[in-house]
Amino acid sequence: MPARPTKLDAVRLARMVEVGRILNSTTDPDALLTFIIKEAAAMTNTEAASILLLDPNTRQLFIKASSNDVPPEMKSTPVPLDSSIAGAILKSNQPLYIPNVAADPRWNQEVDEAIEFQTREILGVPMRNVDKEPIGVLEAINKLEGSFSRQDAETLAVLADLAGVAVEKARLFNELQQANTELNELDQIKSDFISIASHELRTPLSVILGYVSFLREEAGPEMADQLDSVLDAAMHLRNLIQDMLNFRYVATGESVLNLEMVDLAQLIREMNVDQDETAVAKRQTITINLPPFRLPVEADRDMMQVVMDNLISNAIKFTPQNGRIDISITRHGLECWLTVSDTGIGIPEDKLDRIFRRFYQVEHALDRQYEGMGLGLSIARELVELHDGRIWAENLDGQGCCFTIALPLHRKVTGLPG
Ligand code: ADP
Repeated sequence: MPARPTKLDAVRLARMVEVGRILNSTTDPDALLTFIIKEAAAMTNTEAASILLLDPNTRQLFIKASSNDVPPEMKSTPVPLDSSIAGAILKSNQPLYIPNVAADPRWNQEVDEAIEFQTREILGVPMRNVDKEPIGVLEAINKLEGSFSRQDAETLAVLADLAGVAVEKARLFNELQQANTELNELDQIKSDFISIASHELRTPLSVILGYVSFLREEAGPEMADQLDSVLDAAMHLRNLIQDMLNFRYVATGESVLNLEMVDLAQLIREMNVDQDETAVAKRQTITINLPPFRLPVEADRDMMQVVMDNLISNAIKFTPQNGRIDISITRHGLECWLTVSDTGIGIPEDKLDRIFRRFYQVEHALDRQYEGMGLGLSIARELVELHDGRIWAENLDGQGCCFTIALPLHRKVTGLPG
């Protein structure tokens, strides 16, 4: 006989909509199961209800929730799929009504005996996931008045369908959360490693740098080239280690800001960027356009220096010999904008956003021409965002690219009340 379409009366339908809403917003598996059995017993007017779920790994059926107090050891004992009522419902993926369980050879009375309960009749339906595969069984036990009606069967079936999807969703949600926790732990291990390694590397490197500089001054011209190479390599290492050290700002995710009034123009002047050794060696022209008035922002001076240092050293690094680097500071409404543009190699349009991710570099790791760890911009972005600012990159029409940071101006400048 073809199944008749489900017909719920208006009251049950309204209740079912409410149940669906609650099921959808619950991700705690225990709370979900308790709620389902409570609703199943109430909506079918029965003495008790229980849920058995299939373990996705072992494919064994376990009692997961019951309105009766099932002892824990019974919950951890699998219910045989081949010789139990719940197993039959799960395997057939069809509802089953057993009016007299005592006469059914599949009935196992151990649970009843343990909890001093008497099961007389069972109306059971499969719980299915979104693909309509059975993942468990919902049972309503002992009708309180009269006998089970077609409405009860239909109510239980709809409830089981809603519950099946909700249980599966909660399971996936928890798996995702678990995976997320594991990823965070891995990320923490990586961050700790970077911070320990950078601290450990710094001390021997300072010794090397100190002695090589001394030797370079003392040695005759015959050793100058060799010592210059050692000095270059040591400086290169120092830059890499500095990037690793700056990672501390973001690794913990809870950097403490030492806020003060900072005039970015003043900071740029103090950084003496036009005397940068690499830029001088590459014969690059660095121009700085600063406003004639102060544009103070409330910021952590050291962090701002890290951000600016990173943008400027990137511009120098990715711009060839004789190239140009322009730094300017301007006011845009209630913000102070700092731009660093260069005439360098530019950035592919589809990578303009990605370069701000940790360890991302446009160049492939194996045939890289430029030094670096791919950390600077991710640190810069985190620090700028800590200051409620924004940072972005654009390609320039002719050649090269432009990085901008936008920071909120202090209220003294904007005229906003304090
Ligand atoms: P690193 O410079 O150590 O590789 P960053 O996080 O500072 O790491 O930069 C990430 C990547 O963004 C760089 O490897 C490079 O591919 C690209 N990039 C950054 N600045 C520039 C620039 N001024 N011109 C061209 N590419 C750039």
